[in-house]
Amino acid sequence: MSLRARLVLAAAYLLSVAVITLEVPLARYVQKADTNEFEAGVLTNAVLVAARINDDLPLSGSDPLFPPQPPAVITTIVDQTAQATGTRMIVTDALGRLVADSASESPVGTSYATEERPELLAVLSVAGGKIDRRRRFSSTLGQDLLYVTVPVVHQREAIGAVRASVSLAALNSRVWRSWLGFGLIGVIVILVGLGLAWFLATTLARPVQRLEDTSARLGTGDLTARAQPEGPKEIAALGGSFNRMAEALAANISAQRDFLANASHQLRTPLTGIKLRLEAIEQEGGFAAAQAKKAEGEVDRLAELVNDLLALAKASSAEAAGSRVDLAEVAAEAVERWTGPATEAGMDLELDALSPATAWANGDDLAHVLDNLIENAIRYCPGGTRIRVRAVDGALGPILSVSDNGPGIPEEDRPRVFERFFRGESGRKAGSGSGLGLAVVAELVGRWGGAVRLRDGDSGQGSCFEASFPRPPTIP
Ligand code: ADP
Repeated sequence: MSLRARLVLAAAYLLSVAVITLEVPLARYVQKADTNEFEAGVLTNAVLVAARINDDLPLSGSDPLFPPQPPAVITTIVDQTAQATGTRMIVTDALGRLVADSASESPVGTSYATEERPELLAVLSVAGGKIDRRRRFSSTLGQDLLYVTVPVVHQREAIGAVRASVSLAALNSRVWRSWLGFGLIGVIVILVGLGLAWFLATTLARPVQRLEDTSARLGTGDLTARAQPEGPKEIAALGGSFNRMAEALAANISAQRDFLANASHQLRTPLTGIKLRLEAIEQEGGFAAAQAKKAEGEVDRLAELVNDLLALAKASSAEAAGSRVDLAEVAAEAVERWTGPATEAGMDLELDALSPATAWANGDDLAHVLDNLIENAIRYCPGGTRIRVRAVDGALGPILSVSDNGPGIPEEDRPRVFERFFRGESGRKAGSGSGLGLAVVAELVGRWGGAVRLRDGDSGQGSCFEASFPRPPTIP
Protein backbone atom coordinates (compact mmCIF):
# COMPACT_ATOMS: atom_id res chain seq x y z
CA MET A 1 0.00 0.00 0.00
CA SER A 2 1.35 3.44 -0.88
CA LEU A 3 2.51 5.93 1.75
CA ARG A 4 -0.28 8.31 0.73
CA ALA A 5 -2.98 5.62 1.06
CA ARG A 6 -1.64 4.64 4.49
CA LEU A 7 -1.66 8.21 5.76
CA VAL A 8 -5.14 8.91 4.42
CA LEU A 9 -6.45 5.64 5.85
CA ALA A 10 -4.97 6.45 9.27
CA ALA A 11 -6.52 9.93 9.14
CA ALA A 12 -9.89 8.44 8.11
CA TYR A 13 -9.77 6.06 11.05
CA LEU A 14 -8.83 8.75 13.58
CA LEU A 15 -11.38 11.23 12.26
CA SER A 16 -14.19 8.65 12.26
CA VAL A 17 -13.38 7.59 15.83
CA ALA A 18 -13.18 11.23 17.00
CA VAL A 19 -16.40 12.23 15.26
CA ILE A 20 -18.35 9.21 16.52
CA THR A 21 -17.10 9.56 20.12
CA LEU A 22 -17.95 13.23 20.21
CA GLU A 23 -21.13 13.33 18.17
CA VAL A 24 -23.07 10.27 19.35
CA PRO A 25 -23.27 11.34 23.05
CA LEU A 26 -24.02 14.90 21.93
CA ALA A 27 -26.80 13.77 19.61
CA ARG A 28 -28.25 11.55 22.35
CA TYR A 29 -28.16 14.45 24.76
CA VAL A 30 -29.94 16.69 22.26
CA GLN A 31 -32.52 13.96 21.62
CA LYS A 32 -33.20 13.68 25.35
CA ALA A 33 -33.46 17.44 25.72
CA ASP A 34 -35.88 17.61 22.76
CA THR A 35 -38.03 14.83 24.24
CA ASN A 36 -38.07 16.44 27.69
CA GLU A 37 -38.97 19.81 26.24
CA PHE A 38 -41.76 18.29 24.18
CA GLU A 39 -43.18 16.33 27.11
CA ALA A 40 -42.87 19.32 29.44
CA GLY A 41 -44.90 21.41 26.96
CA VAL A 42 -47.71 18.86 26.86
CA LEU A 43 -47.63 18.50 30.66
CA THR A 44 -47.82 22.27 31.15
CA ASN A 45 -50.91 22.45 28.94
CA ALA A 46 -52.61 19.63 30.82
CA VAL A 47 -51.74 21.19 34.21
CA LEU A 48 -53.00 24.58 33.08
CA VAL A 49 -56.32 23.15 31.93
CA ALA A 50 -56.65 21.22 35.22
CA ALA A 51 -55.98 24.40 37.17
CA ARG A 52 -58.43 26.45 35.12
CA ILE A 53 -61.32 23.99 35.48
CA ASN A 54 -60.87 22.82 39.07
CA ASP A 55 -63.51 25.27 40.33
CA ASP A 56 -66.04 24.42 37.62
CA LEU A 57 -65.68 20.63 37.47
CA PRO A 58 -67.55 19.99 40.79
CA LEU A 59 -70.54 21.73 39.19
CA SER A 60 -70.99 18.93 36.63
CA GLY A 61 -72.12 16.63 39.43
CA SER A 62 -70.59 13.42 40.82
CA ASP A 63 -73.66 11.25 41.39
CA PRO A 64 -73.12 7.91 39.65
CA LEU A 65 -76.86 7.70 38.95
CA PHE A 66 -76.97 10.92 36.96
CA PRO A 67 -74.80 11.69 33.98
CA PRO A 68 -72.45 14.67 34.40
CA GLN A 69 -73.73 18.11 33.43
CA PRO A 70 -70.50 20.08 32.71
CA PRO A 71 -70.71 23.86 32.58
CA ALA A 72 -70.00 25.27 29.10
CA VAL A 73 -66.85 26.97 30.35
CA ILE A 74 -65.07 23.59 30.70
CA THR A 75 -65.73 22.65 27.08
CA THR A 76 -64.60 26.13 25.96
CA ILE A 77 -61.32 25.93 27.92
CA VAL A 78 -60.62 22.38 26.68
CA ASP A 79 -61.42 23.23 23.04
CA GLN A 80 -59.39 26.46 23.06
CA THR A 81 -56.32 24.85 24.62
CA ALA A 82 -56.53 21.84 22.32
CA GLN A 83 -56.77 24.08 19.26
CA ALA A 84 -53.95 26.37 20.39
CA THR A 85 -51.54 23.55 21.22
CA GLY A 86 -52.46 20.93 18.64
CA THR A 87 -53.17 18.30 21.28
CA ARG A 88 -56.27 16.31 22.00
CA MET A 89 -57.66 17.09 25.47
CA ILE A 90 -60.20 15.15 27.42
CA VAL A 91 -61.56 15.72 30.90
CA THR A 92 -63.18 13.05 33.07
CA ASP A 93 -64.73 13.29 36.46
CA ALA A 94 -63.58 11.27 39.50
CA LEU A 95 -65.73 8.31 38.28
CA GLY A 96 -63.92 8.32 34.97
CA ARG A 97 -66.92 9.58 33.00
CA LEU A 98 -66.18 11.82 30.05
CA VAL A 99 -66.85 15.49 30.81
CA ALA A 100 -65.25 17.13 27.77
CA ASP A 101 -63.39 15.94 24.67
CA SER A 102 -61.76 18.35 22.24
CA ALA A 103 -62.07 15.73 19.49
CA SER A 104 -65.79 15.15 20.32
CA GLU A 105 -65.37 11.44 19.69
CA SER A 106 -67.63 10.18 22.46
CA PRO A 107 -70.68 11.74 24.12
CA VAL A 108 -70.43 13.29 27.59
CA GLY A 109 -70.90 10.67 30.33
CA THR A 110 -69.17 7.81 28.44
CA SER A 111 -67.17 5.73 30.84
CA TYR A 112 -63.54 6.49 29.87
CA ALA A 113 -61.40 5.12 32.71
CA THR A 114 -61.33 1.59 31.30
CA GLU A 115 -58.65 -1.06 30.66
CA GLU A 116 -57.97 0.43 27.22
CA ARG A 117 -57.03 3.72 28.87
CA PRO A 118 -54.80 2.61 31.77
CA GLU A 119 -53.44 6.16 32.19
CA LEU A 120 -56.83 7.38 33.47
CA LEU A 121 -57.18 4.43 35.82
CA ALA A 122 -53.66 5.11 37.13
CA VAL A 123 -54.38 8.78 37.90
CA LEU A 124 -57.88 8.35 39.38
CA SER A 125 -57.05 5.30 41.50
CA VAL A 126 -54.71 7.36 43.71
CA ALA A 127 -56.52 9.40 46.37
CA GLY A 128 -54.79 12.75 45.79
CA GLY A 129 -54.15 11.93 42.12
CA LYS A 130 -50.78 11.69 40.38
CA ILE A 131 -49.19 12.67 37.11
CA ASP A 132 -48.99 9.92 34.51
CA ARG A 133 -46.79 10.10 31.46
CA ARG A 134 -46.64 7.28 28.93
CA ARG A 135 -46.28 6.41 25.32
CA ARG A 136 -48.74 4.04 23.80
CA PHE A 137 -49.75 2.89 20.37
CA SER A 138 -53.16 4.24 19.50
CA SER A 139 -55.05 1.66 17.50
CA THR A 140 -57.61 4.32 16.55
CA LEU A 141 -54.97 6.58 14.95
CA GLY A 142 -52.53 3.82 14.06
CA GLN A 143 -49.49 5.61 15.49
CA ASP A 144 -47.50 6.15 18.70
CA LEU A 145 -48.96 8.81 20.97
CA LEU A 146 -47.73 10.57 24.08
CA TYR A 147 -50.31 10.61 26.84
CA VAL A 148 -49.90 13.03 29.76
CA THR A 149 -52.64 12.72 32.38
CA VAL A 150 -52.92 14.98 35.42
CA PRO A 151 -55.50 15.05 38.21
CA VAL A 152 -57.93 17.95 38.66
CA VAL A 153 -57.46 18.74 42.32
CA HIS A 154 -60.16 20.53 44.34
CA GLN A 155 -59.77 20.97 48.07
CA ARG A 156 -56.91 18.45 48.05
CA GLU A 157 -59.13 15.81 46.41
CA ALA A 158 -58.72 14.44 42.88
CA ILE A 159 -62.12 15.26 41.40
CA GLY A 160 -61.26 14.31 37.85
CA ALA A 161 -58.49 14.03 35.32
CA VAL A 162 -57.24 15.94 32.29
CA ARG A 163 -55.54 13.92 29.61
CA ALA A 164 -53.54 15.56 26.82
CA SER A 165 -52.53 13.28 23.97
CA VAL A 166 -50.39 14.16 21.01
CA SER A 167 -48.84 12.33 18.10
CA LEU A 168 -45.13 11.58 18.48
CA ALA A 169 -44.56 12.02 14.73
CA ALA A 170 -43.55 15.69 15.17
CA LEU A 171 -41.10 14.82 17.95
CA ASN A 172 -39.73 11.88 16.00
CA SER A 173 -39.15 13.97 12.91
CA ARG A 174 -37.46 16.64 15.05
CA VAL A 175 -35.17 14.02 16.59
CA TRP A 176 -34.50 12.49 13.19
CA ARG A 177 -33.63 15.94 11.79
CA SER A 178 -31.19 16.61 14.60
CA TRP A 179 -29.51 13.21 14.07
CA LEU A 180 -29.33 13.97 10.35
CA GLY A 181 -27.79 17.37 11.13
CA PHE A 182 -25.17 15.77 13.36
CA GLY A 183 -24.51 13.11 10.73
CA LEU A 184 -24.06 15.77 8.07
CA ILE A 185 -21.69 17.79 10.23
CA GLY A 186 -19.73 14.59 10.95
CA VAL A 187 -19.46 13.74 7.26
CA ILE A 188 -18.34 17.30 6.43
CA VAL A 189 -15.73 17.23 9.23
CA ILE A 190 -14.43 13.86 8.01
CA LEU A 191 -14.34 14.98 4.36
CA VAL A 192 -12.53 18.21 5.15
CA GLY A 193 -10.12 16.28 7.40
CA LEU A 194 -9.54 13.71 4.66
CA GLY A 195 -8.90 16.48 2.13
CA LEU A 196 -6.34 17.95 4.48
CA ALA A 197 -4.80 14.53 5.12
CA TRP A 198 -4.64 13.91 1.35
CA PHE A 199 -2.90 17.24 0.86
CA LEU A 200 -0.41 16.50 3.65
CA ALA A 201 0.15 12.95 2.42
CA THR A 202 0.77 14.28 -1.09
CA THR A 203 3.33 16.80 0.13
CA LEU A 204 5.06 13.90 1.90
CA ALA A 205 4.67 11.25 -0.77
CA ARG A 206 5.53 13.37 -3.82
CA PRO A 207 9.14 14.14 -2.85
CA VAL A 208 9.63 10.53 -1.75
CA GLN A 209 8.25 9.33 -5.10
CA ARG A 210 10.50 11.76 -7.00
CA LEU A 211 13.48 10.60 -4.98
CA GLU A 212 12.57 7.03 -5.81
CA ASP A 213 12.33 7.89 -9.54
CA THR A 214 15.70 9.61 -9.41
CA SER A 215 17.35 6.68 -7.68
CA ALA A 216 15.78 4.34 -10.27
CA ARG A 217 17.27 6.51 -13.04
CA LEU A 218 20.64 6.41 -11.33
CA GLY A 219 20.26 2.66 -10.95
CA THR A 220 19.73 2.22 -14.68
CA GLY A 221 22.95 4.09 -15.38
CA ASP A 222 21.88 7.70 -15.78
CA LEU A 223 24.67 9.28 -13.75
CA THR A 224 23.25 12.78 -14.32
CA ALA A 225 20.13 11.94 -12.28
CA ARG A 226 19.83 14.27 -9.27
CA ALA A 227 17.11 14.69 -6.66
CA GLN A 228 15.38 17.98 -6.01
CA PRO A 229 15.72 18.81 -2.30
CA GLU A 230 12.01 19.45 -1.57
CA GLY A 231 9.23 18.57 0.84
CA PRO A 232 9.57 18.31 4.63
CA LYS A 233 12.97 19.06 6.17
CA GLU A 234 13.95 15.42 6.68
CA ILE A 235 13.08 14.38 3.11
CA ALA A 236 14.82 17.46 1.67
CA ALA A 237 17.91 16.51 3.69
CA LEU A 238 17.66 12.97 2.35
CA GLY A 239 17.52 14.42 -1.20
CA GLY A 240 20.63 16.47 -0.46
CA SER A 241 22.63 13.48 0.82
CA PHE A 242 21.36 11.39 -2.09
CA ASN A 243 22.75 14.02 -4.48
CA ARG A 244 26.10 14.02 -2.71
CA MET A 245 26.22 10.25 -3.00
CA ALA A 246 25.27 10.39 -6.72
CA GLU A 247 27.93 13.06 -7.29
CA ALA A 248 30.61 10.90 -5.67
CA LEU A 249 29.43 7.83 -7.56
CA ALA A 250 29.43 9.62 -10.91
CA ALA A 251 32.89 11.07 -10.29
CA ASN A 252 34.19 7.64 -9.33
CA ILE A 253 32.71 5.89 -12.34
CA SER A 254 33.86 8.58 -14.73
CA ALA A 255 37.40 8.38 -13.29
CA GLN A 256 37.33 4.62 -13.77
CA ARG A 257 36.15 4.98 -17.34
CA ASP A 258 38.76 7.58 -18.11
CA PHE A 259 41.43 5.37 -16.65
CA LEU A 260 40.23 2.36 -18.65
CA ALA A 261 40.00 4.35 -21.89
CA ASN A 262 43.39 5.99 -21.41
CA ALA A 263 45.11 2.79 -20.38
CA SER A 264 43.66 0.85 -23.33
CA HIS A 265 44.57 3.66 -25.70
CA GLN A 266 48.10 3.95 -24.36
CA LEU A 267 48.63 0.20 -24.61
CA ARG A 268 47.68 0.06 -28.26
CA THR A 269 50.74 1.87 -29.67
CA PRO A 270 53.43 -0.19 -27.89
CA LEU A 271 51.52 -3.36 -28.81
CA THR A 272 51.64 -2.43 -32.49
CA GLY A 273 55.38 -1.74 -32.06
CA ILE A 274 55.98 -5.13 -30.41
CA LYS A 275 54.00 -6.89 -33.15
CA LEU A 276 56.11 -5.22 -35.86
CA ARG A 277 59.34 -6.21 -34.11
CA LEU A 278 58.15 -9.79 -33.68
CA GLU A 279 57.30 -9.94 -37.37
CA ALA A 280 60.84 -8.73 -38.09
CA ILE A 281 62.32 -11.50 -35.90
CA GLU A 282 60.11 -14.05 -37.69
CA GLN A 283 61.76 -13.00 -40.96
CA GLU A 284 65.14 -14.04 -39.49
CA GLY A 285 64.03 -17.70 -39.27
CA GLY A 286 65.38 -20.32 -36.87
CA PHE A 287 64.46 -21.00 -33.22
CA ALA A 288 63.95 -17.28 -32.48
CA ALA A 289 61.42 -17.07 -35.35
CA ALA A 290 59.33 -19.92 -33.89
CA GLN A 291 59.31 -18.23 -30.48
CA ALA A 292 58.45 -14.89 -32.08
CA LYS A 293 55.50 -16.54 -33.86
CA LYS A 294 54.13 -17.80 -30.54
CA ALA A 295 54.73 -14.42 -28.90
CA GLU A 296 52.86 -12.77 -31.78
CA GLY A 297 49.83 -14.96 -30.97
CA GLU A 298 49.97 -13.75 -27.37
CA VAL A 299 50.32 -10.15 -28.53
CA ASP A 300 47.24 -10.63 -30.76
CA ARG A 301 45.31 -11.87 -27.74
CA LEU A 302 46.48 -8.91 -25.71
CA ALA A 303 45.54 -6.52 -28.54
CA GLU A 304 42.07 -8.07 -28.70
CA LEU A 305 41.68 -7.65 -24.95
CA VAL A 306 42.79 -4.03 -25.14
CA ASN A 307 40.35 -3.40 -28.01
CA ASP A 308 37.50 -4.97 -26.07
CA LEU A 309 38.36 -2.97 -22.97
CA LEU A 310 38.37 0.20 -25.00
CA ALA A 311 35.02 -0.77 -26.56
CA LEU A 312 33.58 -1.41 -23.11
CA ALA A 313 34.86 1.91 -21.79
CA LYS A 314 33.31 3.70 -24.79
CA ALA A 315 30.03 1.78 -24.47
CA SER A 316 29.64 2.78 -20.83
CA SER A 317 30.19 6.47 -21.51
CA ALA A 318 26.92 8.26 -22.20
CA GLU A 319 28.27 10.30 -25.08
CA ALA A 320 26.62 8.95 -28.21
CA ALA A 321 24.19 10.73 -30.46
CA GLY A 322 20.91 8.88 -30.95
CA SER A 323 18.78 8.91 -34.08
CA ARG A 324 16.07 6.82 -35.72
CA VAL A 325 17.86 3.73 -37.02
CA ASP A 326 16.32 1.07 -39.25
CA LEU A 327 17.35 -2.24 -37.71
CA ALA A 328 16.64 -4.05 -41.00
CA GLU A 329 19.24 -1.88 -42.72
CA VAL A 330 21.80 -2.42 -39.94
CA ALA A 331 21.19 -6.18 -40.13
CA ALA A 332 21.60 -6.23 -43.93
CA GLU A 333 24.88 -4.34 -43.70
CA ALA A 334 26.21 -6.69 -41.01
CA VAL A 335 25.29 -9.75 -43.08
CA GLU A 336 27.14 -8.21 -46.03
CA ARG A 337 30.23 -7.60 -43.83
CA TRP A 338 30.27 -11.12 -42.41
CA THR A 339 29.20 -13.26 -45.38
CA GLY A 340 32.89 -13.70 -46.42
CA PRO A 341 34.22 -14.91 -43.02
CA ALA A 342 31.11 -17.09 -42.49
CA THR A 343 31.49 -18.79 -45.88
CA GLU A 344 35.18 -19.29 -45.16
CA ALA A 345 34.22 -21.08 -41.92
CA GLY A 346 31.76 -23.22 -43.90
CA MET A 347 28.70 -21.56 -42.39
CA ASP A 348 25.52 -20.20 -43.81
CA LEU A 349 24.74 -16.59 -42.86
CA GLU A 350 21.10 -15.61 -43.53
CA LEU A 351 19.26 -12.33 -43.31
CA ASP A 352 15.69 -12.22 -42.07
CA ALA A 353 14.67 -8.57 -42.22
CA LEU A 354 11.84 -8.02 -44.63
CA SER A 355 10.22 -4.90 -43.25
CA PRO A 356 11.66 -1.82 -41.55
CA ALA A 357 11.95 -1.86 -37.75
CA THR A 358 12.93 1.49 -36.35
CA ALA A 359 14.68 2.04 -33.02
CA TRP A 360 16.14 5.10 -31.33
CA ALA A 361 19.88 4.30 -31.15
CA ASN A 362 23.24 4.87 -32.73
CA GLY A 363 24.03 3.04 -36.01
CA ASP A 364 27.67 2.38 -35.01
CA ASP A 365 26.61 0.91 -31.66
CA LEU A 366 24.17 -1.48 -33.34
CA ALA A 367 26.77 -2.48 -35.93
CA HIS A 368 29.17 -3.24 -33.08
CA VAL A 369 26.49 -5.34 -31.35
CA LEU A 370 25.88 -7.41 -34.49
CA ASP A 371 29.63 -7.75 -35.16
CA ASN A 372 30.20 -9.23 -31.70
CA LEU A 373 27.24 -11.59 -31.91
CA ILE A 374 27.98 -12.85 -35.45
CA GLU A 375 31.69 -13.20 -34.64
CA ASN A 376 30.81 -15.30 -31.58
CA ALA A 377 28.51 -17.55 -33.61
CA ILE A 378 31.25 -18.10 -36.21
CA ARG A 379 33.85 -18.66 -33.48
CA TYR A 380 31.88 -21.05 -31.26
CA CYS A 381 29.88 -23.06 -33.81
CA PRO A 382 31.17 -25.85 -36.07
CA GLY A 383 31.14 -25.73 -39.88
CA GLY A 384 27.74 -26.25 -41.45
CA THR A 385 26.02 -24.10 -38.81
CA ARG A 386 23.24 -21.82 -40.00
CA ILE A 387 23.42 -18.29 -38.56
CA ARG A 388 20.39 -16.07 -38.92
CA VAL A 389 20.38 -12.30 -38.39
CA ARG A 390 16.87 -11.01 -37.83
CA ALA A 391 15.28 -7.56 -37.50
CA VAL A 392 11.57 -7.35 -36.72
CA ASP A 393 9.11 -4.83 -35.42
CA GLY A 394 7.63 -7.01 -32.65
CA ALA A 395 4.45 -6.46 -30.67
CA LEU A 396 6.49 -5.00 -27.79
CA GLY A 397 8.97 -3.02 -29.91
CA PRO A 398 11.78 -3.41 -32.44
CA ILE A 399 14.01 -6.48 -32.06
CA LEU A 400 17.43 -7.36 -33.44
CA SER A 401 18.63 -10.94 -33.03
CA VAL A 402 21.37 -13.35 -34.05
CA SER A 403 20.58 -17.05 -33.75
CA ASP A 404 22.49 -20.17 -34.66
CA ASN A 405 21.83 -23.90 -34.61
CA GLY A 406 25.24 -24.61 -33.12
CA PRO A 407 26.05 -26.41 -29.85
CA GLY A 408 24.35 -23.74 -27.71
CA ILE A 409 25.41 -22.59 -24.25
CA PRO A 410 25.15 -24.96 -21.25
CA GLU A 411 22.31 -24.18 -18.85
CA GLU A 412 24.67 -23.38 -15.95
CA ASP A 413 26.65 -20.82 -18.05
CA ARG A 414 23.62 -18.94 -19.35
CA PRO A 415 23.03 -16.58 -16.43
CA ARG A 416 26.70 -15.50 -16.51
CA VAL A 417 27.47 -15.01 -20.22
CA PHE A 418 26.93 -11.23 -20.04
CA GLU A 419 29.39 -10.88 -17.14
CA ARG A 420 32.71 -9.22 -17.83
CA PHE A 421 35.56 -11.68 -18.46
CA PHE A 422 33.26 -14.65 -18.26
CA ARG A 423 34.17 -17.34 -20.75
CA GLY A 424 32.03 -20.40 -20.94
CA GLU A 425 33.18 -23.91 -21.67
CA SER A 426 33.17 -23.36 -25.44
CA GLY A 427 35.00 -20.05 -24.93
CA ARG A 428 37.81 -21.65 -22.98
CA LYS A 429 38.09 -24.44 -25.57
CA ALA A 430 38.21 -21.93 -28.41
CA GLY A 431 41.23 -20.28 -26.83
CA SER A 432 41.16 -16.73 -28.18
CA GLY A 433 38.68 -14.18 -26.83
CA SER A 434 38.57 -11.88 -23.83
CA GLY A 435 35.20 -12.66 -22.28
CA LEU A 436 34.17 -9.06 -22.85
CA GLY A 437 32.24 -9.31 -26.14
CA LEU A 438 28.78 -9.97 -24.65
CA ALA A 439 29.38 -7.47 -21.82
CA VAL A 440 29.98 -4.84 -24.52
CA VAL A 441 26.79 -5.99 -26.31
CA ALA A 442 24.72 -5.63 -23.11
CA GLU A 443 26.22 -2.21 -22.40
CA LEU A 444 25.56 -0.93 -25.94
CA VAL A 445 21.98 -2.19 -26.00
CA GLY A 446 21.27 -0.90 -22.48
CA ARG A 447 22.59 2.51 -23.44
CA TRP A 448 19.54 2.89 -25.73
CA GLY A 449 17.05 1.68 -23.17
CA GLY A 450 17.00 -1.84 -24.61
CA ALA A 451 17.72 -5.23 -23.10
CA VAL A 452 19.49 -8.25 -24.47
CA ARG A 453 18.57 -11.80 -23.54
CA LEU A 454 19.74 -15.24 -24.40
CA ARG A 455 17.31 -17.95 -25.39
CA ASP A 456 17.33 -21.19 -27.34
CA GLY A 457 18.06 -20.92 -31.03
CA ASP A 458 15.44 -21.57 -33.71
CA SER A 459 13.80 -24.99 -33.38
CA GLY A 460 15.18 -25.24 -29.82
CA GLN A 461 18.78 -25.86 -30.87
CA GLY A 462 21.78 -23.56 -30.54
CA SER A 463 21.53 -20.06 -29.09
CA CYS A 464 19.72 -16.89 -29.93
CA PHE A 465 20.81 -13.46 -28.62
CA GLU A 466 17.87 -11.11 -28.82
CA ALA A 467 18.17 -7.36 -28.30
CA SER A 468 14.85 -5.56 -27.86
CA PHE A 469 14.54 -1.79 -27.91
CA PRO A 470 11.83 0.62 -26.83
CA ARG A 471 9.75 2.19 -29.56
CA PRO A 472 11.33 5.40 -30.85
CA PRO A 473 9.61 8.64 -29.82
CA THR A 474 7.05 9.70 -32.44
CA ILE A 475 8.06 12.96 -34.02
CA PRO A 476 4.99 15.08 -34.73
P1 ADP B 1 34.47 -14.23 -25.67
O1 ADP B 1 33.83 -14.53 -26.95
O2 ADP B 1 35.59 -13.25 -25.78
O3 ADP B 1 34.82 -15.42 -24.87
P2 ADP B 1 31.88 -13.22 -24.99
O4 ADP B 1 31.43 -12.35 -23.89
O5 ADP B 1 31.61 -12.74 -26.38
O6 ADP B 1 33.40 -13.47 -24.76
O7 ADP B 1 31.19 -14.61 -24.82
C1 ADP B 1 31.17 -15.23 -23.55
C2 ADP B 1 31.05 -16.75 -23.69
O8 ADP B 1 29.76 -17.10 -24.18
C3 ADP B 1 31.98 -17.33 -24.69
O9 ADP B 1 33.23 -17.60 -24.10
C4 ADP B 1 31.28 -18.59 -25.09
O10 ADP B 1 31.57 -19.64 -24.19
C5 ADP B 1 29.83 -18.27 -24.99
N1 ADP B 1 29.19 -17.95 -26.31
C6 ADP B 1 28.93 -16.71 -26.80
N2 ADP B 1 28.29 -16.81 -27.98
C7 ADP B 1 28.11 -18.13 -28.23
C8 ADP B 1 27.50 -18.89 -29.29
N3 ADP B 1 26.93 -18.30 -30.34
N4 ADP B 1 27.48 -20.23 -29.18
C9 ADP B 1 28.04 -20.86 -28.11
N5 ADP B 1 28.65 -20.23 -27.10
C10 ADP B 1 28.68 -18.86 -27.15
